[in-house]
Amino acid sequence: MIVNLQNLQFMLAQDTFDIAIIGGGIIGTAHAYEAARRGLKVAVFERHPRPVGATVRNFGMIWPIGQAATTFERAMRSRATWLILAREANFWAKPCGSLHLAYHNDELDVMNEFIQTTRSVGYQVEIWSPEKTVAKSKTVNPIGLKGAMWSATEVNIDPREATEKLQQYLRQVWNVTFFYQTAIVHVDYPYLSGGAKTWKANHIIVCSGADFETLYPQIYAEQPITKCKLQMLRTVPQENNVQLGPNLAAGLTLQHYASFAHCKSLVRLKTRFARDMAEYNKWGIHVLLSQTHSGELTIGDSHEYGLSVNPFDRADINTLILNYLQRFAKIQNPSIQETWHGVYAKLQNGATSLVLHPTNGVTIVNGVGGAGMTLSFGLADEVAEIIGMDKPSVNLV
Ligand SMILES: Cc1cc2nc3c(=O)[nH]c(=O)nc-3n(C[C@H](O)[C@H](O)[C@H](O)COP(=O)(O)OP(=O)(O)OC[C@H]3O[C@@H](n4cnc5c(N)ncnc54)[C@H](O)[C@@H]3O)c2cc1C
Repeated sequence: MIVNLQNLQFMLAQDTFDIAIIGGGIIGTAHAYEAARRGLKVAVFERHPRPVGATVRNFGMIWPIGQAATTFERAMRSRATWLILAREANFWAKPCGSLHLAYHNDELDVMNEFIQTTRSVGYQVEIWSPEKTVAKSKTVNPIGLKGAMWSATEVNIDPREATEKLQQYLRQVWNVTFFYQTAIVHVDYPYLSGGAKTWKANHIIVCSGADFETLYPQIYAEQPITKCKLQMLRTVPQENNVQLGPNLAAGLTLQHYASFAHCKSLVRLKTRFARDMAEYNKWGIHVLLSQTHSGELTIGDSHEYGLSVNPFDRADINTLILNYLQRFAKIQNPSIQETWHGVYAKLQNGATSLVLHPTNGVTIVNGVGGAGMTLSFGLADEVAEIIGMDKPSVNLV
């Protein structure tokens, strides 16, 4: 980089940071928190006036039950941090747990096998009778219900509210500087620049989500990474304060998450779905249901993979999602008030995160796929150790 007079502005103290983070989604935000609580001077650079990526488009489910044994502990550390931050930053978080509902014997078989084979991991799971299940959530469809797997560890937040309040809290309490409407287009360590401005940092962390094109495109081109598009729906608030209780899932979800992938009984279930629900498999659909603090129900989702993301949402995918939902949930007011899609970066080799050091002083953190909310704080804490940030000056309690 040529350092001319204009570029010398980075020498001003306000343009120099210990840690500069590119990307204001949850991965960038979690790294900002982990760096700030270690006493570092932190800046976050976000392209948009506020985050509008995967981080505000998801369910807001902190979902340890979906994590394989290898990342369950990371998810549980994140969960603990989410609950602390909800109190400190004053956003809604509900430790509601989850129910995986079984309407076929092969679904119950997978749940039983999962419990038997993972006793040492720490999942807080048990099989419930249909009666106990329906007593927990009046929304569960009792017709044909054979039982359910209760998991105690899931937490709901509203990602739109939580992201805004988290960033406000980081600004006010931890003095993190947020540069919104600031796309970083060039990194030449220790400098980063966007528009006509340049900043300097001791360490630069790139958390740019599904944007593989702007920074380090050559690095991304060498990685087994792609994009995944998901379609989502949200109902109007349910009347009379009707509470969903736990998040709900059903058979299709068992073939989606890594936690169940080792179960031998999955083969029979997958064979049935391949035969009877080919359209669901084609669009990568499994169906989850959660509720916001305002009483709306969030419903999703589909999974379409590829670097070229179709900008147009398919009505038939939404219909498939709603049809499957009806099998396991009785929704009081199913009027849909919003539909949208989100896109995340997905590793194709089964890994749950990508942490790279393209040059001295620069770290890329990405590839958290469909579990970024669940893994964010645990991962950021580990990355902080990897890149040699000191232990936190303030400990989590
Ligand atoms: C529909 C949907 C449902 C999901 N549900 C869940 C769930 O319930 N639970 C869960 O754990 N996970 C869920 N996920 C996954 C989770 O949302 C993602 O893993 C997570 O949000 C990824 O965070 P991120 O910070 O990497 O990416 P993003 O949220 O996309 O943030 C990246 C940010 O970087 C900014 N940026 C990029 N390049 C630059 C640049 N050069 N300069 C400045 N800014 C830049 C972008 O504007 C963006 O704001 C879901 C995802 C989707 C799409």
